[in-house]
Amino acid sequence: MFGCEHCGNLKFVPFRCKSRFCPSCGTKYAIDRTTAMSFKLVNCIHRHCVFTIDENLRIFFYEDRSLLNCLFSAVRYTILRLFHNMNNSQQFTPGFICVLHTFGRDLKWNPHIHCLISEGGIGNSGLWRHVKHFSYIFLRNAFRTSLLNFLEDKIGTSFKSIKAKCYREHKHGFYVYAKPALSQPKDVLKYIGRYLGRPVIATSRIDNYDGDIVTFHYNRHEDNALIYETVPVLDFMEMLIQHIPEKHFKMIRYYGIYARHRASDSKLIPAVPLNKRSFLLSCNKWRLSIGLSFGYDPLKCSCGNMMVLLELFHDHKRVPLEDLFRKAIEKYRTSHPNSCSHLAPFMLH
Ligand SMILES: [Zn+2]
Ligand SMILES: [Zn+2]
Repeated sequence: MFGCEHCGNLKFVPFRCKSRFCPSCGTKYAIDRTTAMSFKLVNCIHRHCVFTIDENLRIFFYEDRSLLNCLFSAVRYTILRLFHNMNNSQQFTPGFICVLHTFGRDLKWNPHIHCLISEGGIGNSGLWRHVKHFSYIFLRNAFRTSLLNFLEDKIGTSFKSIKAKCYREHKHGFYVYAKPALSQPKDVLKYIGRYLGRPVIATSRIDNYDGDIVTFHYNRHEDNALIYETVPVLDFMEMLIQHIPEKHFKMIRYYGIYARHRASDSKLIPAVPLNKRSFLLSCNKWRLSIGLSFGYDPLKCSCGNMMVLLELFHDHKRVPLEDLFRKAIEKYRTSHPNSCSHLAPFMLH
């Protein structure tokens, strides 16, 4: 509970509900994940590739969500092979981040992986090699082959006929395509936020709800045409909740140099300099991120004064601020036994 000391206005600000599906908390979650991701990147151009699968395979992942791990394994295997093949003794290792999306723009079940790959890798001798050319022929074929093999391992011999059909219908592999390369590291944060951290549907895409029927829109992937769809509300909810991941399932995974801690890798220059990180993290805090998103200070009262924190409530009960303060001071004292004299003026009586 915040209040204005000047005119007595009160303002209640709720805690997070922590649902990734909530339009507010989910966005906050995405912002935090995006920041964490950008801190891992090295300072080089990254390529954004999308790995898609045969339509007939989608149902397998829908019925057994644990198979989604095979998608990650196949992408990881494919990219590491692409780099290792360049030089067998150096075994260049790139850094890459994979994000699983289970939804298409139309909200239908459509699992695919977005992958952000460094255009280069570090060799066994510690040397960095720039890699400008990615063979998409290799990526498509290797991704198809490794995914089908991983799936067969998991599903068993009943998968053999589907596998054969996939080979017949996708002679050149599964569709893997590249989005435009990122030129400047400063664009990285914006970019991965937009493409990789986004929720299933932004509230701005929901146009109407009358209590029974929901209308939403999207730009069709094939031709970018604007499509409006109107569905009963229960169908709409079903479309959304099918994309809630299993508990503890990791939708974002780091690989290559982004997954390991090697002394030789520490020479690489990070895309986001260390001295800018605390500033970027502070922008994600509630007050500033409301300001950055909506252009106003949520603690500014209509009279122009700044509101101050008056009370804290949890589970509908008042949490005594004095107790919290006392605990914080005690904690500080035990961790800094010799340096708390300057806190004396703040001590409560
Ligand atoms: Zn006021
Ligand atoms: Zn929420």
